[in-house]
Parts: sequence; C-alpha cells; structure tokens
Amino acid sequence: MSLYEKNLHELHDMLKKKEVSSEEITREYLNRIKQTDDKLNSFITVLDEPAIDQAKKADKIISSSDDFDPLTGIPLGIKDLISTAGVRTTCGSKILESYIPPYDASVIKKLKAKNAVIVGKLNMDEFAMGSSNETSYYGTVKNPWNLEHIPGGSSGGSAASVSARQCCVSLGSDTGGSIRQPAGCCGVVGMKPTYGRVSRFGLIAFASSLDQIGPFTKDVTDCAIMLNAICGHDPSDSTSAKRDVPDFTKALLNDVKGMKIGIPSEYFIDGIDSEVETAVNAAIEQYKKLGAEIVEVSLPHTKYAVSVYYIIATAEASSNLARYDGVKYGYRTEDAKDLSDMYFKTRTEGFGSEVKRRIMLGTYVLSSGYYDAYYLRAQKVRTLIMNDFRNAFEKCDVILTPTAPTAAFKLGEKTSDPLQMYLSDIFTISANLAGTCGVSIPCGFTSNGLPIGLQLMGKHFDESSIIKAAYAFEQSSDYHKTIPTIPNL
Ligand code: GLN
Repeated sequence: MSLYEKNLHELHDMLKKKEVSSEEITREYLNRIKQTDDKLNSFITVLDEPAIDQAKKADKIISSSDDFDPLTGIPLGIKDLISTAGVRTTCGSKILESYIPPYDASVIKKLKAKNAVIVGKLNMDEFAMGSSNETSYYGTVKNPWNLEHIPGGSSGGSAASVSARQCCVSLGSDTGGSIRQPAGCCGVVGMKPTYGRVSRFGLIAFASSLDQIGPFTKDVTDCAIMLNAICGHDPSDSTSAKRDVPDFTKALLNDVKGMKIGIPSEYFIDGIDSEVETAVNAAIEQYKKLGAEIVEVSLPHTKYAVSVYYIIATAEASSNLARYDGVKYGYRTEDAKDLSDMYFKTRTEGFGSEVKRRIMLGTYVLSSGYYDAYYLRAQKVRTLIMNDFRNAFEKCDVILTPTAPTAAFKLGEKTSDPLQMYLSDIFTISANLAGTCGVSIPCGFTSNGLPIGLQLMGKHFDESSIIKAAYAFEQSSDYHKTIPTIPNL
C-alpha cells in the first residue's frame, strides 16, 4: 500500500515508530497531486516548497520525541477561503485572485502549532456559493469516482482531494451543506461541527450566522482527531462558544447498543433517488442489527428550510460581500471614470453570475418594504426549525437521513436551473439553520459506482454521539476502504 493511501492515524503510528519521515509522506502526496490534479483540478495553489520545509521541521520534532501531536508531519489541504498568512486566498473568485492575507485564521494557527504540513489551497465554488463546484473562477473540480460528474460543493476541492488521496485530510466550510454534501458525493467523511464549536476568525464570511469550518477525512477516527485539533473557544471570534471540548476519540467505541436513532419521515420524500433510499434503508437495518433503537421523529418545518436558507444566507452575503469594492481588497477595474464607476465595474468584472444573483437577492430581501415580508419572516421560521430539532432530540440521540437526494450528478446537469441546484442541499440546510452538528459518511454505491452518503445529525455540542454512531457503522462496513480509480493514470 502506498503511503498516500494510509489514514492519518496509520501515518501517525508509522511516524511514531520512525518507519517513515514526514518528508517522505509529504513528497508522496505532492507527487500524487502532480499526477492527478490536471484531471481533478482540486487545488488552486500547491505549496511544494513550503510543504517540504514544514515537513522537515516536523521531522526534527518527531526525531526528538515519542510523544507528539497526531497531526505533526501530516499533509493536509485547506479550502481557499480560510486565510493563510503570506499564501494567496482566493475564495474561488476573480475578485480575490491576488489577495494575500497578512494573518492566519485561528484554525490555521492551531494546525501550525501542531506542526501539520499544509500542501495547498483547495478549489471551491465562488464565495462558497454552489453545490457542484461549477461556480469557481478557477474551473470545475471533477469527481474522482467519475470525471464526468460533480464532486459536490462548495468544498468540492476539499472532498475530491481526500477522496483521491491527494492529501491525508482537509478543511472545508459548511453554510448549508458544503462539507456534508461533497463528502457524500466523493465517498469520504465530512463533519460540520456545531455552530460556535470552531473559530471562524479568518474564515472569509459568506453567511456569518450559518458558516462553520470542519474536516474531511478518510475515516471516522481521523475525523475525531481533526475535531480535537480545531475545536475550542477563541476570543477573536465572539460567536465561538465557551464550552469544554471533550476528547472526541473517546467516542470511538464501536458500540451503539441502546442508542436511539431518529428517522424523520419528512426526509424520505418523492424525488429521492431509489438507490440512495435503498442504501440508507440498509444502513437503518444495519443499525438495528448493531443494537440501536430506531425511533420515528418529525421535523415538520423541513419543507421551508430551503426557502428560509436562501433568504437568510443571501441577506448576510449581500452585507458580507459589500467590502469587495476595489478599494481594500483584491481586484480593481482598469478603467473607471470616477469612484462609483470604479465600484460598479470592479464588482461587475470581479464577481461571477451566481454571486451576483445572491447579492441581488439578499439586497432585495433586506430592502425596506420587503424586509418584514421576507427577512423577518424567514428569521421566525428559522426559530420554528430550531424548535423542531429540540423536540426531535427529546426522543432520540442522533437523527439519521440521506446526505443528499441523489448521488453526484453530471457536470453541467443543473447549471442552467438554480432552483434544482439549490435542492441538492435539501437535507443538509436545516442543521445550519438550527446550528446543530452533522456528519456524512459513506454508506454504499450506486449501480454506476458513485458513492452514497449517510447523514447523522446531533444535538448542539454533541459531536461525540454522531461520531459514536458513525464509527459503529463504519466498523461494520467496507465503504470507507474503497479508493476511486482515476482513469488513465
Ligand atoms: N449549496 C449551498 C449554497 O449554495 C450551501 C453552500 C455552503 O454550504 N457553503 O448556498
């Protein structure tokens, strides 16, 4: 088995036994990126030399100690909206094509303190707006399982790079499903922690009340390790929670006896692909065999979730994206008559069409005369959706649903129909509106070999329960061990 096929915890064991160096592992991954990325396009920036330097530094620590952090010397990729000091951070947009942040995001500081090795910045939908990675200014990412299909979005590069073993783990962000949906499409584990669990300081904002950073990993054990590394209160982010962070690896028990798993009837609807439904039903049966108790729950306001999300997320985005005006950040138009012409042309030329659509929608729902009818009402329905979860979690420990209604669709299939595209997130959006945590794990394949994702959602700050449930399922299946074969390699 090549080094790049190994999981984080396996590589950590090898590093501990001095069987391999971080430099060797890092060179393997960089080589793998060279071999595969012209097909996949997962990376916007590859950090060859800095990564080797970081690996050498990690090797010094490893050689002088037996007790180093599990992330020391491990190559990882970062979604290109998490600020990295001195390294271009584009947000998938032309408007930030040449933006180099002067500081590190808090999560990057944490990873650097552990001497993790950053191999590059990962492709994404522009400003994280999309479900297919087709809105990136830097080109579409391809699904490693089938290059004619989307990898999911908006963290498409983060999902594809871990799936194709171009890096060991990665970070993405999830505003309405952007970690879980691509994880499902690419057959990897993707976790959106509870809102407030991970600092957003240095995460370029899309919708501040919904955005959350989280990991993509090859298995659930690595997910727990990554959560241990990135969670925790941060005084620089006033929305980060002052909550104790448990050791998430303690939830890797392989025991779900007596655990109550809730199945919401509202998530098993017309329009869900029959192969997805079959795989998810098989997972439910598997949980029964493992000793879990399956209970019916109801999330009655689910039908409003997509509409509420597209009002709140666009409203927040229209405000967050006002700062890209050619004055402080990134791109500025070449020829402008005066200041307002400069603003107009910079934004016209710098933003792609999906971002413009969202800014216009968001400006509309916030404008006087429409604010009460749309924004205020959406906030009220958001509260009802939160209450749905509160009520459902009185009856169960975790909630199980499909991650998305279909497996990865074909490139181009939904680009001309934004509403169809928006519906890809129908099962993931509610967790963001409610602020709860959710994870997607692989639970099967379609007849044409595309991965199917299973979503487990948990109570606020109870990532441990979804890790516990996810781990038990994973240990009873082989889906996470199958690696995609990229054609013509
Ligand atoms: N696909 C959703 C959107 O386009 C969610 C994106 C995200 O979670 N960043 O808004």
